[in-house]
Amino acid sequence: MENIVTDGLKLGFGLMRLPRLGEGKSRDPIDVEQVKVMVDKFIAAGGKYFDTAFIYRGSEAAIKEALCDRYPRDSYYLATKLNAADFAAKSREEAEAQLKTSLERTGAQYFDFYLLHSIDHESVDKYEEYGIWDYVWDAKAKGLVKHAGFSFHADAELLDQVLTRHPETEFVQLQINYLDWEDPEIQARACYEVCVRHDKPVIVMEPVKGGLLANMPEAATDIFYRADANASPASWAVRYAASLPNVEVVLSGMSNIAQMDDNLSYMKDFKPLTDQEQNVIADVLKALQEVDRIPCTNCHYCTPGCPMEIHIPEIFNVMNVYKVYGDLARARDDYTWRPGGPKASECIKCGQCEEACPQHLPVMDLLDEIVETLEKK
Ligand code: SF4
Ligand code: SF4
Repeated sequence: MENIVTDGLKLGFGLMRLPRLGEGKSRDPIDVEQVKVMVDKFIAAGGKYFDTAFIYRGSEAAIKEALCDRYPRDSYYLATKLNAADFAAKSREEAEAQLKTSLERTGAQYFDFYLLHSIDHESVDKYEEYGIWDYVWDAKAKGLVKHAGFSFHADAELLDQVLTRHPETEFVQLQINYLDWEDPEIQARACYEVCVRHDKPVIVMEPVKGGLLANMPEAATDIFYRADANASPASWAVRYAASLPNVEVVLSGMSNIAQMDDNLSYMKDFKPLTDQEQNVIADVLKALQEVDRIPCTNCHYCTPGCPMEIHIPEIFNVMNVYKVYGDLARARDDYTWRPGGPKASECIKCGQCEEACPQHLPVMDLLDEIVETLEKK
């Protein structure tokens, strides 16, 4: 495999969760002065790769001030993303306008890496239908984009289809972390292996699973700190993803200077996890599995016959993440979009799922518990 990120650290600065002024809400202005300090530290440590997106509120404009206006263009790599969606580009012309806006907002002149944003089962046909693949390759021919790829949020089968249809893809951005590696829904390992088979470099997003792996339950942090008293739980997660051979950059969405300092402390001179350290992660995974969870195997025997088309195992999965990590706000947020389909409260108690379930799970009672925990205010 030929590398496309040819120099800099294996750590990328993800610009989705930049620090904000005021109460720090997503509508508050970005704290550009703090971002400047983070950018300076990152570049001083040898970092080069910055990752933003057209739809990250205020991010492209903030990185203009903090990076593009202050550093020579060849001293950093800038990645941004194009969205095919009802609220974004619905045609080749609108895609062209989106790239133009991203270039104006950042003042970057060109993008080193340009991604079709978040290909999944819903968006995959839109990118085809609107002619956006062709448009991106035209933009590359004009020098506005150096490398083109996509970020991906679906199963390995769809990824294989997309890469088979578009062998010109230069890289893929995948959600990889040790918790999702064998997750039947996210399929991080299977997706990574598809990229290896297609000889595509991988950029990793969500190595810390949106912060979840930085705030672990005590049973897990005890194992980590016993193995290395100075290494943060987040450092284990970032190094895990960075240790995969086809991974070129691991993006960390940093929100403050302390996170930047922590990330740089172990990624400045990155060393892959040793076998012994991989065993520590295996021990943590085992400890997490011992937490009392819904023992759903994700077999989907219950779903085809559900008259309400409730996504039962996907709902159980969100509840299980809550049971392990205890982060109620995050679980409620995940529940609003991640499982898809109707809510647990729409169950009409027909009992079909319980008859179909080989694990003999009390599905209806479990859904009631989920309504109480995740739906009711
Ligand atoms: S009991 Fe509820 S979840 Fe189960 S099949 Fe019937 S409607 Fe679907
Ligand atoms: S049949 Fe049972 S184990 Fe299988 S997905 Fe449904 S609830 Fe889970």
